[in-house]
Order: sequence, then C-alpha cells, then structure tokens
Amino acid sequence: MKKILVTGGMGYIGSHTCVQMIEAGFTPIILDNLANSKPEVLLRIARLSGHKPMFYEGDVRDRRLLDQIFSEHQIESVIHFAGLKAVGESVLKPFEYYDNNVYGSLVLADVMRQSGVKSLIFSSSATVYGEPETMPIDESFTTGAVTNPYGRSKYMVEECLRDIQQAAPDLSIALLRYFNPVGAHPSGLIGEDPQGIPNNLMPFIAQVAVGRRESLSIFGDDYLTADGTGVRDYIHVMDLADGHIATLKAVAQTAGLHIFNLGTGKGSSVLEMVKAFEEACGHPIPYQICPRRGGDISECWAATDKAAQLLGWKASRSIEQMSADTWHWQSKNPNGYEQ
Ligand code: NAD
Ligand code: UDP
Repeated sequence: MKKILVTGGMGYIGSHTCVQMIEAGFTPIILDNLANSKPEVLLRIARLSGHKPMFYEGDVRDRRLLDQIFSEHQIESVIHFAGLKAVGESVLKPFEYYDNNVYGSLVLADVMRQSGVKSLIFSSSATVYGEPETMPIDESFTTGAVTNPYGRSKYMVEECLRDIQQAAPDLSIALLRYFNPVGAHPSGLIGEDPQGIPNNLMPFIAQVAVGRRESLSIFGDDYLTADGTGVRDYIHVMDLADGHIATLKAVAQTAGLHIFNLGTGKGSSVLEMVKAFEEACGHPIPYQICPRRGGDISECWAATDKAAQLLGWKASRSIEQMSADTWHWQSKNPNGYEQ
C-alpha cells in the first residue's frame, strides 16, 4: 500500500484527488488545517471511496507535526495542495500568502529532506506564465511575469523547488501548472465550496443558477476574442485529479524536475461557459456586462502534448460535462457542505 501524504487534501482539488487515489490503489494521508474546508469532506471521501483516509488536522508550517507524520508512516510521495488561493485577498494580505504558500512549502521540503522522503508533487498554476504573446502555452514558456502576491508565491515556490532539486538530484519534484479547474465529482457528493462571494467564474454562475445570487457580472466584453469575453482553459476537476494519479505513476519515482501543464488545450469564453451552464440547469443565467477586472488577461490555454507523451494523460471531459457536474453538486448542496 503506497502511502501518499496529501497536504490540503480536504480542499476542492485535494478531495477529488484523494477519491481517485484510493480508487487507483494509493493510500492518502491527509494534513489540512481546515482554513478553507470542512470536516464533512472526510466523511464524503469515505462514502465515495469506501475508505476513510487518516486525517491530521494541522498546519503544514508545523514542523513538529510533519516530523510526527513522517515518523509514523512510510510516506512514498507528498502531494502539496495546501495553501491560500484568492488573488484579490493576496493583494490585501501578502504576508499571509507568503507565509502559508512559500514558508509552508519550505518547511515541508525541509522535513522531507530530514525524513528521507524524495518525491514531491506541487500544485502550481498557469498564472506563473503571466500573459504570453502566443497560444497555446507550453511548459518552456517564460515564467515570472506575475501580477499579484498569490501568483508570485507560486512562482517563488517553483523557483525554490527548482534550486532544491538541482542541489539534490536524486529528488523527484513535479511542478503541475493547473489551468482553470471546475466541475465536481459526478456523484454530487463533493465539489467546490467557496466561502463568501466566489471570486471564480464557475462557482459564481452556479450560485446564480441555484438562486443564492441575483446575477453574474461579466468582466469585460471588449477583449480581442471571438465574442469579446475572456477565454480560459477550463479543466474538469476529475481530469485534474487523474492527472495527479498519472504523475504519481509516471514520474514520482524518477529523479528530476518534472514540469507539466494540466489543461485541456481548448479555450472557452465566459459567454460559452454561461451557455453551457444554462443547458445544464435548464434555465437562463441573468448577467450584465461590467468593466474589465484589474489584472485579468485576455486569453489563456495550455499546450498538452508534454503531459500526453510523458504522463500518458489527457483531459477528456467537455465544458458540458463540467457544467452538468457543477450543477449536480450545487443543486444537491445549495449551501455547500453546510447543511
Ligand atoms: P482549497 O482552498 O479548496 O484547498 C486548499 C486546502 O489547503 C484547504 O482545505 C485548506 O484548508 C488547506 N490549507 C490552506 N493553508 C494550509 C496550511 N497552512 N496548512 C494546512 N492546510 C492548509 O483550494 P484548491 O482549489 O483545492 O487548490 C489546491 C491547490 O491548487 C492550491 O495550492 C492552489 O493554489 C492550487 N491551484 C488552484 C487553482 C484553482 O483554481 N482552484 C488553480 C491553480 C492552482
Ligand atoms: N469572470 C467574470 N465574472 C466573474 C468571475 C470571472 O466574468 O464573476 C471572468 C474573468 O474575467 C475571466 C474568466 O471569467 O475572464 C475566468 O475567471 P476566474 O476568476 O474563474 O479564473 P482566472 O481569472 O484565474 O483565470
């Protein structure tokens, strides 16, 4: 039984990945401080997978707790999801973002080194690419032109891990750059449960559809895209979860720095997403066109060849599927994990 430490495993992407890991024969051990997730998630993972993962409630910056976990278990790899992720909040609270995301990753890397655990998979983001001039974005594109503390924290961790791997070439470190994760497990039992007003498009649309919010603000319809609204590479969270399984199987035991985009290779506009969601929920989504949101880029989608070749992984779910599964989750759980 291959034990994998999953930091942030109670969160949106972590919970889906734990379910898929159990299915694939791995044993996740979760460390999460519940800063942005609920204890209920563990029960839902257990219901879906038939296995309740061992759960440590605590902080990735807590060196003693990490020591304890690594001494209690023979950990084969670590998947490091834990961190803060709200772009707007990061501008107001940069200290918290660097402390959680950068310092937290360094503590983890240090305790791994002391414990002799040599394999780490890090949740990075397409945001490290900034706004490239050509599409699609492949893994060799320049990184670092980030515009907010959240993005900078991801870039900084990538650079730290790059140096750490270079100094210790027997380590396997994977940097997975996610595009726009959306959707939910098809059971409707787990999904994205943002606290407060959602920052991201899909959860906002879902809350409008379920009647929790009145209408969607579309940030700009004057971009140089087919319909004028922003274009992103939305990826179903189940495909993303499977990308982690593929990474565990293909490269997590091979020394080196492994960098992969996890996207679909296809861009969709805000209006296309609204339309797909209207079809899923069966009624119109009220919206109004608003000014552009500061810091947004016009369009962004991934080159997927490297992941296909080296991980043997490709995203397969459509935006219709993403919308249907988000709607299923949202309509079954109108207030998220809170009853
Ligand atoms: P999430 O907030 O749902 O999950 C993160 C989990 O980490 C939460 O359960 C939270 O309680 C926990 N956590 C936060 N700080 C912690 C700490 N210091 N110690 C222990 N636990 C802590 O977010 P998510 O959407 O699942 O994202 C997972 C990772 O993927 C994050 O690192 C995020 O930056 C990255 N990412 C997410 C997206 C996205 O759009 N969702 C895109 C690109 C990258
Ligand atoms: N967007 C929007 N209204 C919202 C949230 C997002 O029009 O309430 C747009 C945003 O301008 C961008 C796209 O939807 O073009 C995706 O935004 P999101 O915040 O989900 O992801 P990111 O900006 O990280 O790519």
